[in-house]
Amino acid sequence: MVELATGGFKNLICSYVIKGKKPFLVESGPTNSIPNLLSGLKELDVELEDVEYVAVTHVHLDHGGGAGTLLKSLPNAKVIVHPRGMPHLIDPEILWSSSQKVLGFVSEIFGKPEPVPKDRVIPVTEGSFDLGYGAKLTAMETVGHASHNLSFQEAFNGGIFPGDAAGTYLPDFDVVVPTTPPPFHLDAALASLDKLISLKPSVLYFSHFGKANNAIQRLKDYKLQLQLWADIAEQGVRENWSLEQVRDRILTEDKVMRQVADFVKSHRIYSKTVLENCVRGFVEYAKQRQGS
Ligand SMILES: [Zn+2]
Repeated sequence: MVELATGGFKNLICSYVIKGKKPFLVESGPTNSIPNLLSGLKELDVELEDVEYVAVTHVHLDHGGGAGTLLKSLPNAKVIVHPRGMPHLIDPEILWSSSQKVLGFVSEIFGKPEPVPKDRVIPVTEGSFDLGYGAKLTAMETVGHASHNLSFQEAFNGGIFPGDAAGTYLPDFDVVVPTTPPPFHLDAALASLDKLISLKPSVLYFSHFGKANNAIQRLKDYKLQLQLWADIAEQGVRENWSLEQVRDRILTEDKVMRQVADFVKSHRIYSKTVLENCVRGFVEYAKQRQGS
């Protein structure tokens, strides 16, 4: 794992290096922390010419935003991405302007993506890649958080890289909180979680942030948490609550949120992403369902 320390924030975003026959990277992370990733790779004795693949779980700035910049330092690498994400890697302008709208100042902390040359992108929905030593990395579609989120399972330990399909792991508290910005699709997210559970992963390698054990239980708990937030949002939309009222109800009723409320509220990035965007994701989903 490489701590990217994007914008000086620790425990926020990481990349992973799988040391198969050739080093295999999962997540480039944001543009602005590519120098940190490169020095992390050096510390891990990764020769940049040896890297064949950089898999990005999805193209959001914090996961695949830095891919174009990273490739300039990896002469032989190609980027693996879902076909629906591919156009945004090749021409990141729309992604950048919509990210600025959704993320505000956070998009500036992550940095503007540079384009990835088309001939260096491999579009994948399902498939596997040889890691050497008889092991594979399997890609699978796990949409919901984004319409193009991929997860990857490695055959050495059976661990899964879920991108944002399994929430945000807060290692200091050993809990998971939702990552559900609009447009969020609850049914698809729950189906993706069932898919991940059926693969019986031993560990989860969260991009936010770090490796967590008890993978199956965490995925099951995350399903319940999403359902709870959805129920609150449904009620809020029916009864015309403000976004703040929905958020406050979540902070009272979700025992995980009660535990981390002070931390998340005072965190410059999580206060914007978790408490604003992720709540909004549920409210917009509920509005759509209720046809209002
Ligand atoms: Zn993310």
